[in-house]
Amino acid sequence: MRKWLTFYRDLGLQLLAFYLLLIIPFLVTLLVFDRLVGARIRADVEANDIALARAIALETDIAIGDSLKTVQQLSSYESVIGMDREKMGEVFSIVLSARPDVNLVYRLGANGVMLYHFPTGPESTVGVDFSFRDYYQNALISNIPLISEGRISPTTQQAVATAVMPIRSASGEFVGLVGTNIKLESLSKTLAAIIAEHGSEEGFEILILDASGQVIAHPDTAFLLKPANEILPEIYTQALAGKSGSIVTSDLNGGQRLYTYAPIPSVGWGVIISRPTENAFATRIILQRITQIAVGTFILIGLAFWGILSWRVINPIERLAPISEAIGLNQQIEPSQRKRIEKLSRRADQIGNLIRSILRMENSIAERMKEQATLLEISAAVVSSLDLSVVLSRILEQVARLLNVQMIAIIALDVERGEFRVRASHGLSQGFTEQLSLQPSEPSSVSMRALRAREPIQVSDTETDPSYKPRRERAQAEGYRAVLGVPLNTKHAPPTCLLIFNPEPHEFSENEIQLLSSFANQATMAIENAILFERSDARLQEQTRRLEALVQSMEDGLILSDLKGMVIYANRRVAEFANLASEDMANIQVEKIISHILGEEMDFENFRSLKKSEIVVMVAGRPLNLRFETFDVTDGKETIIGRGVILHDITADRELDRMKSNLISTVSHELRTPLAAIKGYASTLLAEDVEWDVKSQREFLSIISDETDRLTGLVNNLLDLSRIESGSLRLSLEKCDIEEVIRRGASQARLGSGNKFQIKIEAGLPALYADVPRLETILRNLIENSIKYAGETAAIEVQVSRQGDAIIFRVIDDGIGIPPEKSERIFERFYRLDDSLARVTSGAGLGLAICQGLVRAHKGEIWVEQMNTGARIAFSIPLGLDEQP
Ligand code: ADP
Repeated sequence: MRKWLTFYRDLGLQLLAFYLLLIIPFLVTLLVFDRLVGARIRADVEANDIALARAIALETDIAIGDSLKTVQQLSSYESVIGMDREKMGEVFSIVLSARPDVNLVYRLGANGVMLYHFPTGPESTVGVDFSFRDYYQNALISNIPLISEGRISPTTQQAVATAVMPIRSASGEFVGLVGTNIKLESLSKTLAAIIAEHGSEEGFEILILDASGQVIAHPDTAFLLKPANEILPEIYTQALAGKSGSIVTSDLNGGQRLYTYAPIPSVGWGVIISRPTENAFATRIILQRITQIAVGTFILIGLAFWGILSWRVINPIERLAPISEAIGLNQQIEPSQRKRIEKLSRRADQIGNLIRSILRMENSIAERMKEQATLLEISAAVVSSLDLSVVLSRILEQVARLLNVQMIAIIALDVERGEFRVRASHGLSQGFTEQLSLQPSEPSSVSMRALRAREPIQVSDTETDPSYKPRRERAQAEGYRAVLGVPLNTKHAPPTCLLIFNPEPHEFSENEIQLLSSFANQATMAIENAILFERSDARLQEQTRRLEALVQSMEDGLILSDLKGMVIYANRRVAEFANLASEDMANIQVEKIISHILGEEMDFENFRSLKKSEIVVMVAGRPLNLRFETFDVTDGKETIIGRGVILHDITADRELDRMKSNLISTVSHELRTPLAAIKGYASTLLAEDVEWDVKSQREFLSIISDETDRLTGLVNNLLDLSRIESGSLRLSLEKCDIEEVIRRGASQARLGSGNKFQIKIEAGLPALYADVPRLETILRNLIENSIKYAGETAAIEVQVSRQGDAIIFRVIDDGIGIPPEKSERIFERFYRLDDSLARVTSGAGLGLAICQGLVRAHKGEIWVEQMNTGARIAFSIPLGLDEQP
């Protein structure tokens, strides 16, 4: 199965198979033809040779038969039987002349001794005993003619075979034999003639063997009488055994030969024809060669074709596959592969074409990918904000980057005015952007045309484009020659168009327009999002603003940070505590702010370990008590998403605590003194063992009364203060006699007998409305202070004057005065200057605080005016208070 799969996947194998499919029937036919024709040729050759061998055998048989007949006839001649030498000579000579193949005719005696031969010379063997000869032995027991083995005749010294006929007497007694020697040479000559007939075929041999296996005839007489086994392979025995046939076998030298044999049965001889197979089957061999060459050629052509196909087509295609895959997946192609493919791309054929087109495809894919990536990046940049103005400016920025252009504008419908105006621009003059206003029906404007057509419109040269004629001047002034308008297909946002200007005439390419259109879609989305967000978020923003206002107005500081400690939010108070500008607090580490507040480096973990601890920091020169509280910010699922720090300003609490303890200590002190005095004098009066005179009694009682007044005053002061603090102080305004008020205040203050007291009132003052008892209290407190701190002999003056819309009261003494740095603090409750005088004088530090409270209740101010000597405290009461509701 897998093999088949590889087959189906391999074009080379398929083509090879197809080729074989075409070629195999042809080759099979060729081989079958070769076989059949070969066999036929061989059969023909063999048949020819057998026919020839048989013909020779027949001819030889006839010749030998003639000789045998001859000797048979001779044996019947009287002269031969009777050994009449003369007549016998005659007969023998006739035989010799009639038979050129016979060279000797002779007569042996019964004992095998030569009796007569003809011709008689040159050597005579008469008297020689030939009884050892095979033919003699055979003749002894035969009465038919015989043929002998081949041999050399001692008489003629020639190779001969003898035909003999035993001679018997009438009584059948063997009386000798008559023989004719047949010249083997003549047989051989016949064979040579036959061979000559066959042309000069090389290696063509014919020979005749006698019954003993001797060569009896051979075209080359040198071979005569040689034993056959010296020159022939075993096959000759078949012929001698009376069989005929042919066989291919190797000769004694190892060469292949076709041997054909036929018997000469009458004498037990055999004819052998032989020739080298390459001659015998030359035609067949040529045919075979042709077949082999054809098969070889086809195989070679097939292989060569396959090789070339693989090299030129399949390999390049195979190599191309992973590369085109890599291109498709936008993967890197290995440098070695790239080199090979570039080499292939230089080919002029279809493969070169294919590769070139794939490389072009690669380039365009890469370009597209790059564009996509840019577009994506740009879109991401554009949609990353929901703030419309940020979105617009990003669109401009990114278009400038995308197309490398300098002049861009976004034109949008101003819904209120019903005309299009520049909403954002880049690289255009202020005059242009401010003045440009387009009616939706404007025919020559590129942006209006694009919006109407809902597709990009370009004017590639403003100077030559007739539709642009009315705007040409403006284009010249602004310095552009080409414009492209791309409409943004908005739904929720007002109709908007992107305009791109080029300083030179420029045909915006399909690609540029395409790219810009894709980008425009993204930009539209971003604008739509921003607009929708703006709308839907208006309420949220309102809420956020409120929340923001709330958090901003908090008296406590609040810092929120992300998990990495980066500040996300810090309110106004934090800025104050840290003495940093609000904008400096964005995107810095919490540690930074905390270090700023603490005035020392501190990391957040250390800071957290200070949990709920309290510190005092100096803010604007004033010490503030801050309590830190850190907390985790969690989402709905209790997952920590950030950290928070609250900085409680507990300065007021601390102050209050201080004041409370001050109040208790002061009040208890201030109460105890008069109470002790009252108790003391009352006890004294009540003592039964002492009788006090009336004068002393009165004195004691008046002390008790004074101290009670002091107590009442203190309690009134405290009550006033608490009313002021709680805001429940109600003024009852009435027109007041200023001098009267001052006098009463002074009398309540109990001027000492040594005090010089003066009142200076500016003439012509308008009527003053005030809460008279409260005004008296103010003046009493101030005059009391002057008495206390300037002494019992001090000169005290109260001045009254008008300043603008207010009456100013000034209480002036010539005492120790008030140090300038304390001129604010003395108005605080329970605040007393910590000097020796303050220590000896009684007082709760409430007088000036009450004065301030009462003055402010009149919407006036109280302050210290610096003097070279003594103190001067002034306060204002605005005029026209009665008119107020
Ligand atoms: P008290 O007089 O009870 O101490 P006040 O609020 O009236 O409290 O005054 C606050 C402080 O201001 C006094 O302790 C004193 O040190 C200082 N002071 C007030 N008036 C005078 C003044 N006329 N001359 C010098 N010091 C003054």
